[in-house]
Amino acid sequence: MNPLKVLYVCSEVYPLLKTGGLADVSAGLPPALAAQGADVRLLLPAFPAVAAGVTPEGPVLPVPAGGAPGLPAGLGPLPGTSHGPDPWLQRGRIGASGQPVWLLHAPGLYGRGGNPYLDGSGHPWPDSAEQFAWLGWAAALLGTGLDPTWCPDVVHGHDWHAGLAFAYLHQLRLSGSRAPGAVFTIHNLAYQGVFPANVRERLGLPDALFHMQGLEFHGQVCFMKAGLVYSDAITTVSPTYAREITGPEQGCGLDGVLRQRQEVLHGILNGVDEVVWNPATDPLVQPGFDADHLQGKAAAKARLQKAVGLQPQPDALLFSVVSRLTEQKGLHLLPAVVDELVQRGGQLMVLGAGDATIEQALADCVARHPGRVALRIGYDEALAHGVIAGADVILLPSRFEPCGLTQLYGLRYGTLPLVRAVGGLADTVTDCSLENLDEGSASGFVFHQLNGTELSAALRRAFALQRRPADWRAVQRHAMALRFDWARAASAYLQVYRRAATRTPLAIHGTASA
Ligand code: ADP
Repeated sequence: MNPLKVLYVCSEVYPLLKTGGLADVSAGLPPALAAQGADVRLLLPAFPAVAAGVTPEGPVLPVPAGGAPGLPAGLGPLPGTSHGPDPWLQRGRIGASGQPVWLLHAPGLYGRGGNPYLDGSGHPWPDSAEQFAWLGWAAALLGTGLDPTWCPDVVHGHDWHAGLAFAYLHQLRLSGSRAPGAVFTIHNLAYQGVFPANVRERLGLPDALFHMQGLEFHGQVCFMKAGLVYSDAITTVSPTYAREITGPEQGCGLDGVLRQRQEVLHGILNGVDEVVWNPATDPLVQPGFDADHLQGKAAAKARLQKAVGLQPQPDALLFSVVSRLTEQKGLHLLPAVVDELVQRGGQLMVLGAGDATIEQALADCVARHPGRVALRIGYDEALAHGVIAGADVILLPSRFEPCGLTQLYGLRYGTLPLVRAVGGLADTVTDCSLENLDEGSASGFVFHQLNGTELSAALRRAFALQRRPADWRAVQRHAMALRFDWARAASAYLQVYRRAATRTPLAIHGTASA
């Protein structure tokens, strides 16, 4: 049997460019798919950090604008980028992993420094619609045979950045082009890529797509909705989030669309990349450790306390955060419980950046409790490993959480997650209730309502467990033995791909309707 060819369309990949969990997924899932026989190529914008990490191979492939000879007249034209020459594709491999990629070059759109999505003042780039329309357009063209030597069976797009690929594919399919299976994954429904209606003309989107059952969203163009409406199958990154987004509370206004597509909506839990996040072999955490040899974890705690200016107390219960500092992550609740946490003898280390109000409130906590609370504003991969290895507890009191990765890393490193029971957090962490302790299933601390009272009660449960060292060890041992591997996720994705490629409905474990 020929390997299934998958074009994997995304905007970031670890270690070249990472602003969040999406990059970890783009690094972890493709090799796991390849290990099960798929032929996977990534398609990414050639942001400078990405281009710098890719070794080019073979000739470039121009990306014709819509309306060009051979393309349907109804589509486009998607104009040139107005900042430079028309885009082109360069094949290559990621140096670090050997992963095959297509890079989409459009110097005027991608060739600038800074954050790929935001300008210096934190606003979306003014040409962000064009940036990701071109990504979608290139994906659709590759999907319909732009490179005759490699025609994908499946186009798999990720988040709103890849959403328009599915609108373009739909149009190309209507006009008789080859039709690969179209799979769209939601990593975070809250970021939707919504633009004024008049971008349609610039993006070559025919009026026929601009209606309630299409990509129109309250009079605007919504890239995310294009992915939801024009794909053959939709996945998201945990079974619970797959259910939650079909309701008004977590549906971000798109729950109606998702309810209509419930039969093709699947929740597939993310995995942990063992190459990057394994406490026994992590080059950023030396000496390493495992569940039977925890001296390395104690050493990591001492190193962390020293590095960030916390008092060198091995017995102080060390809570941690490695996160975007936003309300999505529930971190606006944290400052109010810090005094209690410290009074009970705990310490807190926060690594992250985001909302200025949360950053300031946490800085005030540091000022009130020097040596007990530490804060590092910014993004620091090495410190993230040091924190997750050295802390006792990792906090994710999220308002919503599609999957969450840091609780999975915490489990692996024996750093018990303290989480709110939403999305992937509900699917991966089991509370230390007496009955769960008794049956050996407890792996962390779980609370339900998004308020300081419940968060504080969960913190008290962590202190209570610390006073029962044998129970703490048992929970830690169980947490460290849990495996959320990419192989399991990859086989679920392959099922979805095969059905999408042949357009047969699929019922797998974890569907939204389950
Ligand atoms: P998100 O919603 O931000 O994607 P995830 O939990 O899915 O949340 O993934 C976050 C990823 O980003 C994890 O790999 C985490 O370790 C990393 N991360 C978040 N904040 C920081 C930071 N300040 N420094 C280093 N890594 C970070």
